[in-house]
This record gives sequence, C-alpha cells and structure tokens, in this order.
Amino acid sequence: MILFEEVTKIYDDGRTAAAGLSFEVQKGEFFVLIGPSGCGKTTVLKMINRLIEASGGRIGIDGRPIGGYKPNELRWNIGYVLQQIALFPHMTVAENVAVVPELMKKPREEIDKTVDRLLHQVGLDPDVYRSKRPDELSGGQQQRVGVVRALAADPDILLMDEPFSALDPVTREKLQNDLLELQRTIRKTIVFVTHDMREALKLGDRICLMDGGRIVQIGTPDEIVNRPANDFVREFLGGENAGLPLRGARLSLTAAELCEPLEPDSRLAADGAVTIGADTELGDLLWHLAAEERLLVRSGDVVIGLLERERTLKRIARELAEGGEER
Ligand code: ADP
Ligand code: MG
Repeated sequence: MILFEEVTKIYDDGRTAAAGLSFEVQKGEFFVLIGPSGCGKTTVLKMINRLIEASGGRIGIDGRPIGGYKPNELRWNIGYVLQQIALFPHMTVAENVAVVPELMKKPREEIDKTVDRLLHQVGLDPDVYRSKRPDELSGGQQQRVGVVRALAADPDILLMDEPFSALDPVTREKLQNDLLELQRTIRKTIVFVTHDMREALKLGDRICLMDGGRIVQIGTPDEIVNRPANDFVREFLGGENAGLPLRGARLSLTAAELCEPLEPDSRLAADGAVTIGADTELGDLLWHLAAEERLLVRSGDVVIGLLERERTLKRIARELAEGGEER
C-alpha cells in the first residue's frame, strides 16, 4: 500500500530528518509512528502526500511511485488531520467538510449525504452540528470535524499528525476509542503520529519507533512490549507496565531539574556532544537517553548540566517512587 525504500530527507539547512527509512504499511492497517520531537515523524507524513519532497530513496503507493500521481489525485486520495485543525471560521461545519468534495465536483446530494453520515459516525448529531460554526464547538468536537473533513473525499489513506495531543486526557481517550470504532467500519490505511506510548499501544496494529531520522523498531504492540529493541526501552515501556511509569510520573520533570549542574559553558555545546534543551520533558528525555549514555543540557547556546544514563535512571526511579507515595 505505502512503501518506503531507503528514503532520506535532508533539509536545505543540512538537517537530516530521515536517514534511510524503509517500511511498508499494509492496506487497512493502523500504523503508528512514535518518537521524540524532532525525530522526523511529521517529515515522514508530509513526504507521503508530497507536501515535502524526499531527497533520496523511493516512495510508492499501491505499487506506483508517488511522483507518477497527479498532485490532486494524491491529495484527494490522502486525508490529513493535524493537531490544530484549521477549520474555516466563517463557514459552517457542513461547509467546512464539503470543501474537497466540492472541488471534486461531486453532486450536491451525494455530498450532503456523506457529510451527515460521517458526522453521525464520529458521534456528532448532524441535525445539531451541521450548521454550527467552529467557534461554537469544543476542542474535541473540532477535532472530530477535522477527522470528518479528512474523510469527506473518501480517501484510501488517512494521515494523522498528533491529532489528539492538544486535548485534555478525558476527551483524548474518548476520541481514541471512537477512532478505533470508526476504523472498524471504514478500514482506511492510517498513518498516525504520536509521542505518547500509551496511545501508540492502544491504537496501532503496528508501531514504528523512530529516533533521529532512523527506525529503532517496527512491531506489533505485543512485540514492542515483549521484545523491545533495547534495554532502556524495555525498562520503561516494557512488560505489563507498558507506558505506565511515564503516565504516573510527574511529566513536568525537565532536563534542567534532573541534570547534574555544570558551570555554564558555551564551548561544550559546540563540542559535537548530543545536547538537549533545558525544558525537555521526561518522555522525550528518556528517548534521548535510550540512544545516548551522556547528554548535555543546554539553555540557549550555553551548556548548564550533564545527564548520565545510569544516574538519571536512578533519579527518575526515585521520583516515581515518591510520586507513588503521594497518591
Ligand atoms: P517530528 O515531527 O518528529 O517532531 P520533524 O519531522 O518535524 O520531527 O523534524 C525532523 C527534523 O527536521 C528536526 O530536526 C527539525 O528541526 C527538522 N526540520 C523540520 N522541518 C524543517 C524545515 N522546513 N527546514 C529545516 N529543518 C526542518
Ligand atoms: Mg511533528
């Protein structure tokens, strides 16, 4: 269905966002991309619908190189849902959803039917919501409309870039459940980006873990949990506690709080060592520590601290235990 072969992306400024990615997404599969921010997830999505051109390698859809599709052919066959849905504020829900089908010159009657059916499928009563404007909707309802809009042209593929990450946990959980339910009936090929392991395990038929433009592991939730690619991932994401330590943890813990302070020094940052921002949060920090024994913590261009894997793990374990006692 979607095939990546040795795909690379090097941006004009020399940043490598994809360093030789090879994977295949099956028709009807729910494929989750997960990894720390900056690892290249969004770049992968945008290469699929050609918002971004790959620098090398081959990308194919249904056995045809994407370069061989006409731009509209590709766009209409691929729905796209973003974290912040940009609904047109001056248009009703129905008008927002109908934009692409109208561009495709579908008959009015068919469009109206599709809009109502899809609204119903995502749990929005068409009679109530059809004529509402975006500012009358909650964040969760707007994301539901975003999903409907992406599906309105009946694409084969749905790309979703952290669609639920701006929502509160309760709303988020509802939308996850509804998306799973929806997928049971529509069976689209979905590529879904998240940096939340719990979300990935819950939604994905398969999960692709990325770090630094590379694939760390691809597997079913079961394989990821029971046969993780490295010890560090196993320790924090594996076993029956999959993802739970992260949920229970104070996610507000930052690199700055966890590191051994160093005398501020701007030369260290230029040293080629891996540095992360002072406000990097626990989830992302663990990902970096999975790859690096030592990380430098920087504030602006100045290095202010050091994170060593062993010591940091102990520190986090302690914080987790204390957090547990409080509850
Ligand atoms: P993710 O979605 O996983 O957070 P992205 O795909 O957005 O990651 O970015 C991957 C890397 O490419 C990052 O280092 C990011 O800074 C860089 N990057 C993304 N977009 C651009 C761009 N338009 N120009 C230059 N670098 C970019
Ligand atoms: Mg992104």
